[in-house]
Amino acid sequence: MNHQQLLSQQFSQKRLPHAILISGPKGSGKHVLAEWLTNLLSCNDVQQQANFLKACGHCKNCLLTRSQSYPDHLTLQSHTATIGVDDIRHSNLFLQKTAHIGQYKTVLIPNAETMTIAAANALLKTLEEPTADSVIILITHDIEQLLPTVVSRCRLFSIQPLAGEQLIAQAKNSNSSLSNIEKLDTGFVNISHIQELEDQQIYKEYLQFKETYIDFILKNGKNKALLEALQTNQHALRWLEKITCNLQRAQHLPEHSYVDLNNSKLTASVLNQLFGVIINANKTLKQYAQVNQQFVLEQLFFSMIKIVKS
Ligand SMILES: [Zn+2]
Repeated sequence: MNHQQLLSQQFSQKRLPHAILISGPKGSGKHVLAEWLTNLLSCNDVQQQANFLKACGHCKNCLLTRSQSYPDHLTLQSHTATIGVDDIRHSNLFLQKTAHIGQYKTVLIPNAETMTIAAANALLKTLEEPTADSVIILITHDIEQLLPTVVSRCRLFSIQPLAGEQLIAQAKNSNSSLSNIEKLDTGFVNISHIQELEDQQIYKEYLQFKETYIDFILKNGKNKALLEALQTNQHALRWLEKITCNLQRAQHLPEHSYVDLNNSKLTASVLNQLFGVIINANKTLKQYAQVNQQFVLEQLFFSMIKIVKS
């Protein structure tokens, strides 16, 4: 049973958990699920659709929700990098008041992993003694960062993103213009490919980048176009990581022709080293906002040349 089905069932039987934690990687649809649920909980005329329930979209409450003025829902939006204790206190107070027009009071906490310890402790009290007809929904892409005591008091809904054929099938369903998607590393596709899957132009750039990268490997580093691509295309570093990872996986699946390397002596050790320096560059860029991006990418490029030359 999928999450929407299960939650619909719990909703109809009036045994919805008071605290719900939606966990999953970025882009996996956590916010879509949370929005579907908060809309459902505010709607006055819930509709049955196939095997799950859905907000009607046109009752008074739904219209208020759409204009972001529905009074019985609160989305915590922290103005700093972390969710502080004051934010949580604000939401606790909100939940303690009785609902204005809805049957439920709902609070949505995106990026729950950014809660400070004090904030998490303040939330714990509410989780331990929930007010009637209140539902708190936490969203996180990094459940490891949450206090275990918080996690254990929530009903966990973990989203596993589609991968491979399933993802391609879904992308094709939602975008019929994708006719040549078969060429995109079928079987290795995952959620991080979604931009390529949904945008023809980005898809073309991806294919070209992949060709450049493979050429770079085959010519033992003698292809400067790779550096240029890295410095000019915002997706390039992510693609570099992805393609290298796919090359590693393809080595364990000899029957899978990920790419024709013309019997080049590309070894697992070379691929592992490449993957290592790519990951490091990625980490550096993510961790330090002040870092000189051009410099990091140049360093990466020269490290990669050293590795493929050897
Ligand atoms: Zn409605």
